[in-house]
Amino acid sequence: MKMGLLACAFGRHSVDRANMRKAGGSHVCKCRNCKTPMEEIEPHVWQVLQIKDAGLGPRSFG
Ligand SMILES: [Zn+2]
Repeated sequence: MKMGLLACAFGRHSVDRANMRKAGGSHVCKCRNCKTPMEEIEPHVWQVLQIKDAGLGPRSFG
């Protein structure tokens, strides 16, 4: 196991600033180790991007 992925398991993702993009006024980026989408909620404060309804649509309750 890579050290980077171990850090990811503890929520310490490594933001790949080289591929940072702007989306809706905030910066979004992906972890360089596990590709988890990250969002900059405050300057230099990154949070895992919450993706709503990822494959779990209304049909699950139908
Ligand atoms: Zn990660």
